[in-house]
Amino acid sequence: VQPRPPPSTPPPTPPPPQARTRLAPSPTGALHLGNARTFLINHALAASSGWETILRIEDLDTPRVKPGAAAEIAATLRWLGLAWTGPVLVQSEDLSPYRAALAQLARAGLAYPCALSRGDIAAASAPQAGDHETPFPPSLRPPGAGQPYDPTEIATTTSDPPNWRFLCPPGPVEFTDAFAGPRSIDPAATVGDFVLWTKRDQPSYQLAVVVDDQRQGVTHIVRGDDLLDSAARQLRLRRALGYPPATDPTFIHVPLVLGVDGRRLAKRHGDTRVEHYRSRAVPPERIIGLLAAFSGVTPRDQRTPMSTDEFVARFSLDKLPKGPITFTPEDDRWLLAAEC
Ligand code: GLU
Repeated sequence: VQPRPPPSTPPPTPPPPQARTRLAPSPTGALHLGNARTFLINHALAASSGWETILRIEDLDTPRVKPGAAAEIAATLRWLGLAWTGPVLVQSEDLSPYRAALAQLARAGLAYPCALSRGDIAAASAPQAGDHETPFPPSLRPPGAGQPYDPTEIATTTSDPPNWRFLCPPGPVEFTDAFAGPRSIDPAATVGDFVLWTKRDQPSYQLAVVVDDQRQGVTHIVRGDDLLDSAARQLRLRRALGYPPATDPTFIHVPLVLGVDGRRLAKRHGDTRVEHYRSRAVPPERIIGLLAAFSGVTPRDQRTPMSTDEFVARFSLDKLPKGPITFTPEDDRWLLAAEC
């Protein structure tokens, strides 16, 4: 008599991937009220939707990184009641994942070395208003662009290291931002062959952020809408690196906080650092209360001190104003007012 086979068990269904978001400050300065609002919105969405939150320090922009800023930002975020789990990723501590991604693109003929300086490129292209990066048109590609390269060989044989650029395919990238709505952005037309790796032997923001969002399993990206254009570049890079479209993160780009002159919040608008108010004994509830008025949680002119938990309970993306918010001198006075 044959032993009966064990009752068949259905194959285990893989658990759904844990939804995950990241707080990704650049330690180029202290957290101001505008950054704080974006991080608070990120925190509120994560807390109310059950996403895990991780902290990533984006410190690759070395000339602009300020010593001690990363620790100070983390302390400010904690003081505001924001939390994260797991180890903190500090990008500068290990460049090998970014190097591997560059090597993959170079071997596929999708990245090429380029010795042209910013000035050479600016001289050859029409200036575009509001562009941070000088657009790099295909006409400036060196003859070798598109051929496979081994970036390790190049790096060791040149005394004057080049930038590495992405061979950006033409055409629009279509995606739907969960706050800003459907978008169609053509990176080839706006920035052209953007930089992946700099002469200083460092990955660019675009390359590093794409590699990290993928290897850290980030499913939701909440950030300022000054990075909407970058989302298209990042989606292009994701395809070039072979990341499955099903793993593309959901983008939630939120409007920025501006000064009364309509420009993004900066030193010229006075000291808007959260630490400035903290040092003047402003309690966190007052900061959160102002950010609540900036986020549609309370009417714009009815600032009320609020706990972080209450902000989380009352915030929703539908309430968030569609346009930028203006930080006014009255807001500053309200924060510094003696009684709540
Ligand atoms: N580190 C960037 C910043 O502070 C954010 C980048 C991102 O969220 O993708 O502006």
